[in-house]
Amino acid sequence: MSADPVAIARDLLRCPSVTPAEGGALAFLEKTLKAAGFAVHRMTFSEADTDPVENFYARIGTAGPNLVFAGHTDVVPPGDEKAWKYPPFSAEIAGEELYGRGAVDMKGGIACAVAAVLDYLVAHGGKPKGSISFLITGDEEGIAVNGTPKLLKWVADRGVKFDHCILSEPSNQEKFGDTIKVGRRGSLNGHLIVTGTQGHVAYPNRADNPIRGLVALIAALQAEPLDRGSAQFSPSHLEFTSVDVGNKTVNLIPGEARARFNIRFNDNHTLESLKKLIEQRAAQAAAGKIKFAFQWERSNAGVFITKPGPLTELVAKAVADVTGCKPELSTTGGTSDARFITAYCPVVEFGLVGQTMHQVDERVPLADLRALTLIYRKIIDRYFA
Ligand SMILES: [Zn+2]
Repeated sequence: MSADPVAIARDLLRCPSVTPAEGGALAFLEKTLKAAGFAVHRMTFSEADTDPVENFYARIGTAGPNLVFAGHTDVVPPGDEKAWKYPPFSAEIAGEELYGRGAVDMKGGIACAVAAVLDYLVAHGGKPKGSISFLITGDEEGIAVNGTPKLLKWVADRGVKFDHCILSEPSNQEKFGDTIKVGRRGSLNGHLIVTGTQGHVAYPNRADNPIRGLVALIAALQAEPLDRGSAQFSPSHLEFTSVDVGNKTVNLIPGEARARFNIRFNDNHTLESLKKLIEQRAAQAAAGKIKFAFQWERSNAGVFITKPGPLTELVAKAVADVTGCKPELSTTGGTSDARFITAYCPVVEFGLVGQTMHQVDERVPLADLRALTLIYRKIIDRYFA
């Protein structure tokens, strides 16, 4: 058994676990955690029109509180492998940095959590005071349908309670220790479709041009802010990303016009209340004169927010002690699996520096892996103290 985060990270990086492939990453974690006394459950979730995905829950201890380390072992594709300095699944070390797809997002983070837990267990006779769990999915970089939401439900359905969760996503922006993520905005994609009556461009009175209606509704939806922000978030934002008519004929008034948009929203809204608000505003602007409809893309990207409290303080103090930085408690950036975990227990994200994630030559300084392990180790110690 090794509590060296670099060795564990290299073993994980050598597993080609591009979503939805398991690639040997969960098998490696199973072997490692079983050897330390964890009870390990592996389950595959599936659903019509999606790839089945393997997931993983491991726990040591039976008493509460149950401290959970969460993450994903799947990675985005490496792209052109020849563009990489070292093969993306070779886990090469050069210049005190470890290279490989997933180095920061987020096999490196998982390796640090595993190393910290193993080290803690060795120092405490092999058992935590309460329980320590790992909640690992293989479906984060994909559509996240057969991953964390089903995994959480599967575990909760068996009577397991989660008390606090640390998600090892690469939360830091520029420098290790600069940011803890305590919230993320939700994301919603929609299509606005306006229908008119097709006709000859020379006889507009016999047609109804949907482009006029679409332009009016786009203007109306952008005219008013969705909110003024909240205590921890900046204002929600709607952005149109495409306007499509697809009409190649110069003398034809089209019968339909469409636009596509994305909304990044804060905790003033839920997915459902936001759809209602947009539909209401469009109806008001249309005033019964424009025929329109919305198509909403399937989304499970709700908002997550963990208010300042014992968990944020515990993590911030450990980060400050190890790095000397006072981390910012941030709510910026894209979505993460914390949006699902937040329904079960308070969750914060703290991991490596995100700068090279999803890029060619994704890599992590070995010093960051060691510092993150030390931070997790302090968190565990103080959590059960
Ligand atoms: Zn990630």
